[in-house]
Amino acid sequence: MKSLLEKPLFGDLLATDASNAIRYHLTSGTTGRTPIRVLDSMKDWDWINEMWCYGIWGFGVRPEDIVYFAFGYGSFIGFWGAHYACEKIGALVIPGGAQTSEARIKQIIEMGVTTVFSTPTYALHMWQKSREMGIDLARESKVNKVILSGEPAGSIPAVKQQLEEAWGAKCGDTAGMTEIGTIMIFECSHQPGGTHIIEDHFIEEVLNPDNDKPVGYDELGERVVTSFGRGFIPLIRYRTKDMVMKVPASTCTCGRTWDIYNGGIRGRWDDMKLIRGTNVYPRAVEAIVREYPAIDEFQIYIWRKEELQDEITIKLEIKPGHEAQWTDLQHKLAKDLANAHEGLRFNIERMDYGILPHFELKAKRLVELNVYEALKKLAAQSDLPPCAASNVRKALMSMWQATNDLDLQFEQLYDLGV
Ligand SMILES: [Zn+2]
Repeated sequence: MKSLLEKPLFGDLLATDASNAIRYHLTSGTTGRTPIRVLDSMKDWDWINEMWCYGIWGFGVRPEDIVYFAFGYGSFIGFWGAHYACEKIGALVIPGGAQTSEARIKQIIEMGVTTVFSTPTYALHMWQKSREMGIDLARESKVNKVILSGEPAGSIPAVKQQLEEAWGAKCGDTAGMTEIGTIMIFECSHQPGGTHIIEDHFIEEVLNPDNDKPVGYDELGERVVTSFGRGFIPLIRYRTKDMVMKVPASTCTCGRTWDIYNGGIRGRWDDMKLIRGTNVYPRAVEAIVREYPAIDEFQIYIWRKEELQDEITIKLEIKPGHEAQWTDLQHKLAKDLANAHEGLRFNIERMDYGILPHFELKAKRLVELNVYEALKKLAAQSDLPPCAASNVRKALMSMWQATNDLDLQFEQLYDLGV
């Protein structure tokens, strides 16, 4: 991966000749770094689709199904492999490419779609949109399976329950990895509260990230993966930073002999934020917030108060018709969050409905204002060389615009020359 970054486009460690490639896709990247660029050969592409076949067959997709991909079909690899896997199984595939959510919802109903592929965030978004259109997806669509990928939320019980009620369908989690280009774990139709590992094709170790020693069943650790499936870049004991807890295959009643990651991917070790000495994981916060059905959208803000103290604020929108619950909810949510975080104080702030951005692909619910604050501090310094001062002002101006656009902070910065 390092070679890939140092020597774009493809690094100097390709395991086969570049002329064997038949596909090129970007991968999403989960940390905001440069996307990973990988070539795939005919064999790799076949393997990528095959891995998806394990997952979607396991969740019950069959040739009779009419499958809809609520996915943009850009150069991002996302659901491409799943699309080909559905064709391989013999299902009827509808690529719901570049369209509005409204058009997608209409198509899903008109075409009698039975299975939808989506990120959890976008599945929630489509449901919100359908309500605005006066459509009850659970009643008016034939969808009985929603297959989720791209975000860990598909294994958060409260999110899953909300989605299952909204769509009137079973929701199954799958998780893949940018470097692999496909999925390595999936939830079967028995829904054991976790995801089976495709052990035919992946060696999955779980290590204690502090001392690199293997941990046992029922213990949290970091996933380390070995796979030779993608011929152009085989992975050997690759550290993923994914936080997981392995449980034995027998935990599930489906009869598969593959172990399970209970709760799917539980977050990333480097997602952890240290707020006044307490560990805060965005996924854990989300799991608590999603237990409140009256909350529609939310974001987590980490900011510094008077340059002294880190603060964490949950900004949320209440679903129309549930406004009366706000006062109660505010106190209860703050208490629940504090109880789960060694008493840490969470600020709860209500936004008008429709203010928070609703994301289609991967939700960016965690917003840090620290960079903006740091730029302000720099701009206030009087001893910067003239050209540095001018560039800092330019950067601050863009950042100011962005924080305004995202509704994070409104203020005037005339004093700083912006
Ligand atoms: Zn199972």
